[in-house]
Amino acid sequence: MMKQITVLSGKGGTGKTSLVSAFASLAKNKVLADCDVDAADLHLILKPEIIEENDFRALKTASIDGEKCTRCGECVKYCVFDAISDYLVNPLACEGCAVCELVCPVDAVSMNEKNAGKTFISNTRCGPLVHAILYAGEEASGKLVALVRKKAKDVAQDKGLDLIIIDGSPGIGCPVIASLSGADLALIVTEPTISGLHDLERIVGVTEFFKIKSMVCINKYNINREKTIEIKKYCLRNNIPVAGEIPYSGDFTKAMVQAKSIVEYGGDVSQIVKGVWDEVNNSIR
Ligand code: SF4
Ligand code: SF4
Repeated sequence: MMKQITVLSGKGGTGKTSLVSAFASLAKNKVLADCDVDAADLHLILKPEIIEENDFRALKTASIDGEKCTRCGECVKYCVFDAISDYLVNPLACEGCAVCELVCPVDAVSMNEKNAGKTFISNTRCGPLVHAILYAGEEASGKLVALVRKKAKDVAQDKGLDLIIIDGSPGIGCPVIASLSGADLALIVTEPTISGLHDLERIVGVTEFFKIKSMVCINKYNINREKTIEIKKYCLRNNIPVAGEIPYSGDFTKAMVQAKSIVEYGGDVSQIVKGVWDEVNNSIR
């Protein structure tokens, strides 16, 4: 039976992608899905060879047919986003509400889907990767995350793979919910800081709402041991297993510079990360 693990964090830069790339080196029979579409960087480590590329069409934008337009100004008057000037629509300002289409007396406005990004299916040395880019200024990242996950599932089914490892979006917004929904396990990567504990509590609120089992990994646990104890107590109180505690290590950056996962790079900390994977893998299997 296919399982899905989503790796999450309250904000970017907590080591989430380092952990996902390490899992990519360790896990068998899996597809990787980079759902951190606003700041995708798993590809920097995994160096994918793209085998399929598709446009991602999202929000509609208005466009005005200059031949039909009588320059009555109705659309300009009603566009609350000030997206129309000189009877032309600024696609970056248009929110796709279609009010201009409704008010135009001569049917000069049409609503067209716009290209908001791209999705990719790639081969990597660690197995197939589904990833995406969202063009600057686009906001349909929840929809794009859902599409990446769907494609990852299709790849897993086609290739007979039984695990999807998802690099989730940070935070608790719509893309995070899209990264999480239907997952079998959420691994929440946190750091022992004031905001780290606060973010952890907020993500746990989301995983509990969706009834998704959670585990926690404390990264850089030794930068603030008091906070680490606080996080562990919180986890104990809330019945959330701690999959492991990883010390601060410059090896993560060195591995990244060499486009390697920490497991490929080696060293003491890689053994600790392997221990985290064993906990996660045992929990899901
Ligand atoms: S679709 Fe809405 S936001 Fe876009 S130009 Fe028309 S009225 Fe303005
Ligand atoms: S409402 Fe229609 S006809 Fe009037 S200015 Fe806008 S596009 Fe042109």
